[in-house]
Amino acid sequence: MDKNELYRNIPKVDALLERESMTALAGRYGRWLVTEAVREETEALRRTIRDAADDETALEAVRGLEQAVEKRLEALCAPRVRKVINATGTVLHTNLGRAPISREQAEKLVDIVTGYSNLEYDLENARRGERYAHFESLLCRLTGAEAAMVVNNNAAAALLTLSTLAKGGEVLTSRGELVEIGGKFRVPDVCAQSGATLREVGTTNKTHFSDYEEAIGEDTKAILKVHTSNYRIVGFTESVPAAELAELAHSRGVPMIEDLGSGVLVDLEQLGLDHEPTVQESVRAGIDVVCFSGDKLLGGPQAGIVVGKKEYIQRMKRHPLTRALRVDKFTVTALELVLLEYLKKEMTVQNIPVLRMIGEKRPSVQARAEKLAAMLRAGGLRADVAVAPCQSQVGGGSLPLERLDSAAVTLDPWDMSASALEHAMLRLTVPIVPRVAEDKVVLDMRTVDESELGLVAEMLGEALR
Ligand SMILES: *Cc1c(COP(=O)(O)O)cnc(C)c1O
Repeated sequence: MDKNELYRNIPKVDALLERESMTALAGRYGRWLVTEAVREETEALRRTIRDAADDETALEAVRGLEQAVEKRLEALCAPRVRKVINATGTVLHTNLGRAPISREQAEKLVDIVTGYSNLEYDLENARRGERYAHFESLLCRLTGAEAAMVVNNNAAAALLTLSTLAKGGEVLTSRGELVEIGGKFRVPDVCAQSGATLREVGTTNKTHFSDYEEAIGEDTKAILKVHTSNYRIVGFTESVPAAELAELAHSRGVPMIEDLGSGVLVDLEQLGLDHEPTVQESVRAGIDVVCFSGDKLLGGPQAGIVVGKKEYIQRMKRHPLTRALRVDKFTVTALELVLLEYLKKEMTVQNIPVLRMIGEKRPSVQARAEKLAAMLRAGGLRADVAVAPCQSQVGGGSLPLERLDSAAVTLDPWDMSASALEHAMLRLTVPIVPRVAEDKVVLDMRTVDESELGLVAEMLGEALR
């Protein structure tokens, strides 16, 4: 058939919109979006006809037009941000949204965000309130600090701290602490943005007290200590304890600032990990302003938390940047709920998903792996299914050397390579993100919740049957 004759099979947009199938779709998606989809789909059809090798292919596409419109509408309206199953074992996976909050916490969030709240209203005194008031006293009780505030993330907290306290002057920082965190956070760049001048002291591996002492002068506006969250310098090394630096700063009348990275509020040794400096320790050491993330080891929403001396925090609250970096009601609510879990000390690890996952011992993870493996074997997947020991990481630029003994379900597919299976898993209705090692797909069960096992089995059935 002549192509022009084939093109004549494409219905007119207006005519197509009058068909019953399209008016039904308009009831669900609205007439405007259906018109968009019809236009785009008829254009696609024109291209298909142009490129079709034979008439039958072209006519088949014409017959499938209405269905194609419906498919396009479904795709257009499906949220792009979706639930995925994290089977990497990396607890704080920045690409997968870092810290999950518990279902109980999320349910309380619904009431607040679907209606109105006292976000900035002081109910006691019937007047405008402060959005930080909700968790300020809580943060002070938990950390021992005098005052607290919260901004969008820790990068913002560091920027605000330096902008408020060190703009136009020098900030002393050790050369061993000029950290880059993934996603373009670099200490020297943040410093430059804030209008402060970075004055590097010491060397990469060793920085002495005398290095700071010699560098501190008229122009010094602050000393900054940065926790080397995502790397360790080992061997012939030396750094100066925060308490000594705080004393030096105070003797010159300037503030001591610390970017702690992860906001650890509990002793990680109780989870069998190495000691990680806590916020309380920094406050006790006399640091004037401590900033840390809300969604790393703290286990809350994305946020940058700042705690410290009242005079400095007050100045930061009044800084114009604060308005630009402020947190919304989702964050305020979720953060307060998570912080409340820290009050119940003995229950904290159990009630905060990130801490519970990090602290889980291998036998317990393995029990979950065995359970999933049994479900998969019963499902008759076209793959060898086994349970094997493995090691997980904390992630999120925290505790880079730490390895957690864990257990995995491994899949050795019969009809495809491990990497082909991995790609298929990423395209499932609920995508599963695994690791691949030694040509097997590895599902580290540390980060897969008991409640997700049925879903994982169902999804793998889709990929492997
Ligand atoms: C992670 C990290 C940051 C950035 O925190 P975000 O909350 O991701 O913005 C800044 N400083 C240090 C030391 C960190 O570890």
